[in-house]
Amino acid sequence: MNESLQIRTFKRAGHIEVICGSMFSGKTEELIRRIRRAEIARQRVKVFKPKIDNRFSEFEIVSHSEQSFPSEVISSAEEMLEKSFDAEVIGIDEGQFFGNDLVEVCQNLADAGKRVIVAGLDQDYKAQPFGPIPDLLSVAEYITKTLAVCVVCGAPANRTQRITASSQQILVGATNHYEARCRLHHIVNAEPQSENTGTKEEKANAE
Ligand code: ADP
Ligand code: MG
Repeated sequence: MNESLQIRTFKRAGHIEVICGSMFSGKTEELIRRIRRAEIARQRVKVFKPKIDNRFSEFEIVSHSEQSFPSEVISSAEEMLEKSFDAEVIGIDEGQFFGNDLVEVCQNLADAGKRVIVAGLDQDYKAQPFGPIPDLLSVAEYITKTLAVCVVCGAPANRTQRITASSQQILVGATNHYEARCRLHHIVNAEPQSENTGTKEEKANAE
């Protein structure tokens, strides 16, 4: 056969997409939107989340707007390699909670032809780069920065204000511990309010 008439088949190239921003900025919503569309296109999808994030459900990723999608809990990024064999599209929520090996694992999956979508916080509550997300941004093909609404002034918010007393980098929670804030209203060294705010009487007694 004339070689120019032959259909050449190429191995499909995979890629990495990162969805990052502050808490409440819609990262999980956007991840679910992309995964649902892939599923509509009859692609084999697989979604993972780290063990640490069991806030709303063990078996689903759940957004603050109560959208959800089935997911598997994993303890390490490496687990994704063996569990994604069949998947064409892989979603990962709360990527910041994995170690730096998340970067290598995502690279391996993308090299194997898979579409890898990672959602995660790019900054911690002190507005410092968070976990493997910054390194992942440098190797990703596509980056989406999502913004929340600053609860103080309504401006676009790309930071997460911790509102309870704790200086651990990781403190899993939602509106009980955190608020979305803009650059102007995010206060890094503020004394957080006590978690136990007490009754009016207790406060009066303390004064
Ligand atoms: P993320 O994964 O980035 O934490 P989610 O996708 O879980 O965000 O939730 C986004 C949803 O959170 C919004 O659609 C909205 O309903 C809700 N939300 C609550 N507080 C805010 C806020 N300050 N700004 C924007 N959305 C907020
Ligand atoms: Mg989320």
